[in-house]
Amino acid sequence: MAQYKYSDRLVEAKSWAFDQDWKPGQPVTNAGIYRCRTCGDEIVADKGSVLPKSHHEHSLLGPVVWQLLVFAQKHPGR
Ligand SMILES: [Zn+2]
Repeated sequence: MAQYKYSDRLVEAKSWAFDQDWKPGQPVTNAGIYRCRTCGDEIVADKGSVLPKSHHEHSLLGPVVWQLLVFAQKHPGR
């Protein structure tokens, strides 16, 4: 499970991107932490990068389906 220390540096958001299933091989529109719905592993992906098709042996668990957990945001002034 993703962890943080300073809650004042994170903000709750209602973006549709959190509700979408992200498929392996799909390019992501947000940089951030993605969680596999099937096994719970988390990865970091850059904006526009392709989500991994297999992040470990997964055949007995089910398909890899990614969920956006936290998205990274550039400072609005830059
Ligand atoms: Zn997984």
